[in-house]
Amino acid sequence: METNPALAGVTCTDCDESFDAAAATGRCPDCGGILDVEYDLDALDVSRETFENRSERSQWRYRELLPFAREAAVTTNEGGTPLVPVPELAAEFGVEAVYVKDEGRNPTGTIDDRAQSVAATAAREAGATDVALASTGDDGQSAAAYAARAGLESHTFVPTRASFTNKAMVNVHGGDMSVVEGRIGDADAAFADAVAEHDDWHPVQVFSTPFAHEGLKTAYFEVAEALDWSAPDHVVHPTGRGAGLHAIATAAREFADLGLVDSVPAVHAAQAEGCAPIVRAFEEGRDGHEPWEAPDTICGRIEIPDPTGSALALAAVRETGGDAVAAPDPEILEGATSLAESAGLELGASSGASVAAAYALAERDAFASDDVLVLVNAGAGSKDDDILRSHLMGKGI
Ligand SMILES: [Zn+2]
Repeated sequence: METNPALAGVTCTDCDESFDAAAATGRCPDCGGILDVEYDLDALDVSRETFENRSERSQWRYRELLPFAREAAVTTNEGGTPLVPVPELAAEFGVEAVYVKDEGRNPTGTIDDRAQSVAATAAREAGATDVALASTGDDGQSAAAYAARAGLESHTFVPTRASFTNKAMVNVHGGDMSVVEGRIGDADAAFADAVAEHDDWHPVQVFSTPFAHEGLKTAYFEVAEALDWSAPDHVVHPTGRGAGLHAIATAAREFADLGLVDSVPAVHAAQAEGCAPIVRAFEEGRDGHEPWEAPDTICGRIEIPDPTGSALALAAVRETGGDAVAAPDPEILEGATSLAESAGLELGASSGASVAAAYALAERDAFASDDVLVLVNAGAGSKDDDILRSHLMGKGI
């Protein structure tokens, strides 16, 4: 494996056991827990200038905090997405600044490209021939693209409700796709059965390998550098499996530990009221979630009734002093369409949750007048054109 020399290994988030990164590429071999990548930060010789002086604009700009060598990277220049100011929202919330981190600008229109770049690199470095995942849609499309880039076969399990665009593009990338009757839980189960049958398939779903959620960290590194090496006060993230929250908190800690940035932001979870297991667990003071009985939201990307990473997501929120907010679908869709209309930004339907949650946090007086907010848009609005337009039509527009 062509790894980053500072890569220390992978550590189980449940039992704390550590393993060689080449030996543990899925879940914990001892207990089945989620594995996280660890670095020897003391061995890293990096400063702000290390990154500033680099012409690379992709997420591999931050290669010292990614597990693999730059030369090994499977990449189509994901990352380098803009942090777009939205002064109208800043005025409305009475804060210093509000930005949208626009992850819809990635190669396949989603933040998942960051994850799939690193996961496909891991799979190729491990000598895999096939990768597999269950997906609500976006990460399946992304995985098919990066598998194609890496010369690997991909197997994607999506529920029937996944969008036409996602399904079509998995095919366009030459991926093998199973459309599973039902919802994401059914696709997850079909994926688990298939992986049990094909032990040579390399999992690339977030939390099924340490290397997918690891890639999501780079969105935060870009935010901190764009803010002239300072942490925003708040990051609001649309939340399904919980990988984004965990990655932002991990990245913020790494940059702070390296002395690159002085503080860490409060990380807030944004879910849909029709499927909010992480918000409910947060409100009830629990460390993990109870599966959501009857999920019902138009926001397919974040309709995850049984989120694998809930404990990590809850820890990320609590340890950073964040909050967790569930918003009704109409408010989420209004969040996305209002920014399309007022700021020219194209947020995915589910990412309207970031906007809706920010309004709720403002109501709770969570923001101070000198605060800087970052709302994460996890996917391109044009992938959800039908949902967004239906919302407007529902208002008689
Ligand atoms: Zn373990």
